[in-house]
Amino acid sequence: QDSAAVASEIGGSGTKPNPSSLAPVNLDHGDPTAYETYWSKVGERSTITFTGDQSLSYFANAKNLCWFLEPKLEEEIRRLHHVVGNAKVDDHFIIVGNGSSQLIQAALYAVSPSDQPQPTSVVSAAPYYSAYQEVADLLRSGLYKWGGDAYSFNKDEPYIEMVTSPNNPCGMTREPVVNRPQGKIIHDLAYYWPHYTPITSQVDYDIMLFTVSKCTGHAGSRIGWALVRDKDVARKMVDLMVISTIGVSKESQLRAAKILGVISDSCLLDKSPGLENFFEYAQHLMAARWEKLREIVKVNELFSLTEYPSEYCLFTKEFTEARPAFAWMSCKSDMEDIEKILRGHKILARGGKRFGSDPKYVRISMLSRDQEFNLFLERLSSIHGITSGN
Ligand code: PMP
Repeated sequence: QDSAAVASEIGGSGTKPNPSSLAPVNLDHGDPTAYETYWSKVGERSTITFTGDQSLSYFANAKNLCWFLEPKLEEEIRRLHHVVGNAKVDDHFIIVGNGSSQLIQAALYAVSPSDQPQPTSVVSAAPYYSAYQEVADLLRSGLYKWGGDAYSFNKDEPYIEMVTSPNNPCGMTREPVVNRPQGKIIHDLAYYWPHYTPITSQVDYDIMLFTVSKCTGHAGSRIGWALVRDKDVARKMVDLMVISTIGVSKESQLRAAKILGVISDSCLLDKSPGLENFFEYAQHLMAARWEKLREIVKVNELFSLTEYPSEYCLFTKEFTEARPAFAWMSCKSDMEDIEKILRGHKILARGGKRFGSDPKYVRISMLSRDQEFNLFLERLSSIHGITSGN
């Protein structure tokens, strides 16, 4: 596509597409490749090998409520939460899932009342993670259905609220918004780690979802975990896991256990000679990216970025601002479709409408490799001027 075609597509007058651009830079997905360099420096310490006679059984620990959970993974999950201090784990069952995506389904299944004439509404405050709607509606379940923006939910009936904190897409700290006794709350804490946000308290909710994808960057291992207080809810979640996939790959679980062990060790001086603290590394990387992005947006006439308050982090023992995994960028003019403008400059990002918000917002992944991130900054800084307002 030549630059004239791009300009006409976005209806821009002062925009100038980058002539060196060929392929689009895709920051639509939150693919967390940013930490590859850290893991290549860790090298052999994070390696795990298997022999042919290992891990044949479906079972990992027949005595455990979650009988397919590898004991080593359970131990490393509990240790990491103790080291970081972000969530209480001692009174909770741990359930492992194929990513926290599968655990979202398991949690919806487990908390849905089974005695309702109609499917229970699943709500989340806009802007919300776009997958909730997809998961809630995909199978047209008789148990639950997508109910939209939690701010507009006013029915006097049972509901399930997804609370994502820090939030995907906007990075803000979130609390439930419906606050009625008939509600069940699922806390999605995929980003409640010190590289993304100040750890302001050790949270202790009934259902908390985490994932290695966003914590360590190992999205490809597909390991998530739920911390669940109530035994019956935990049992129902296990039922869903068993019926859908009869558990979770042991190779993945043992690899995740190894990786989580490395990052816990990296935080403890005596265990980690020569090992850089993972959270400090990732925090610096994210802070540097945010600083560069803010510099560009500050001198740009079209766009603006969400601001975050400085808060005391119990883990770093410093006041810091959030450095979210996604930038939630908006057009200063209400009339613009920012996703379209960026696409015209070969930057692919996810428009606000997918998150129950406005097309003047866009979500941009901050977790790509350096090369893609730098290309994004280069292309973003070439967008200037005032568009015609299509
Ligand atoms: N919850 C939130 C808020 C997310 O952003 C994501 C990943 N984009 C997930 C859950 C699912 O992560 P995974 O399935 O990779 O564990």
